[in-house]
Amino acid sequence: MKTFKCGACGSTVYFENVQCLRCGHALGFRPDKLEIRTLVSSGDGLYREYKKGAGVRLRYCANEVHGVCNWLVRADSQSQFCSACELNRTIPNLADPANVLAWGVFERAKKRLAYSLLRLGLPLDGAVVGKAPLTFDFLNDALTGHLDGVITIAVGEADAVERERQRQAMAEAYRSMLGHLRHESGHYYWMLLIDGTNNIDRFRALFGDEREDYVAALERHHALGPPADWSLRHVSAYASSHPWEDWAETWAHYLHMIDALDTAAVHRLEPRLGRFSSGNAWGLRPFDVYRSESFDALIKRWVPLTLALNDINRSMGHADFYPFVIPDVAATKLAFVHRVIREAMSQ
Ligand SMILES: [Zn+2]
Ligand SMILES: [Zn+2]
Ligand SMILES: [Zn+2]
Repeated sequence: MKTFKCGACGSTVYFENVQCLRCGHALGFRPDKLEIRTLVSSGDGLYREYKKGAGVRLRYCANEVHGVCNWLVRADSQSQFCSACELNRTIPNLADPANVLAWGVFERAKKRLAYSLLRLGLPLDGAVVGKAPLTFDFLNDALTGHLDGVITIAVGEADAVERERQRQAMAEAYRSMLGHLRHESGHYYWMLLIDGTNNIDRFRALFGDEREDYVAALERHHALGPPADWSLRHVSAYASSHPWEDWAETWAHYLHMIDALDTAAVHRLEPRLGRFSSGNAWGLRPFDVYRSESFDALIKRWVPLTLALNDINRSMGHADFYPFVIPDVAATKLAFVHRVIREAMSQ
């Protein structure tokens, strides 16, 4: 994720900010520009951008009043919600303050996912390309998953204690709200980018035949665990359960990789095999992980970055930043995700 500059005072401001802590100006995220912008009130809940004169009139997404969204909507928009909140079909009962807190965790993660998808030029709503609309249900007492365009996230996943309990029960190396959203979005974009397209044969060659009985495959995985040699072919144990899950896990790891590399570039962290330095090497030329770099360039930066950050986390007594090892076969699958996304981008 990039950092941004306050348009009024030049301070560094962040993706989640609603106000500049230095000069006090209101801030909001413009999804059409993919940037945090500094705002000046023009009354009636409307804003203009700082020093943009008669520029476009904006308002906050209706969910801003709940403290869960800082995205902006054009004043003439039909919807009271921003392009990311617009995708919500169900949210939990806000009369319970615990649900509001949980919803905030969900929205923060969903905004980060939406930012990556928008920067990759992927539609947030597949209806524009004739596929099922992307829809979110954030529900109490539900099972997290994807079905026909609807991503369901259990409210319990926003609770750090519950999430850690589940992680241990499932023997997972990593579990987070953002990880869930990235994984489930993979199932959605499989429908858009693979299913019924020319990519299906290459998909089957790399990931296996997704027509294998899905329910039986998951039951087998939960009863017997992953095959002993799963780590030679997959990014995670769960990825070995079925070709769809392998794709969704690989997709999630691709999004982990580009978001973290983008952040590292912003902070001028230059990882090199065997060495880690903070300097201006990345600043010599624009480094756009979302658009211009080859997969090879990305993975060459990603591996040493994760090794260094894992070690730094250990020095603080934290769990590893990236508790995974990418085998060559899984790197080939990541390269396929990269190519499919870049091709979709150029259409
Ligand atoms: Zn400021
Ligand atoms: Zn919103
Ligand atoms: Zn899945």
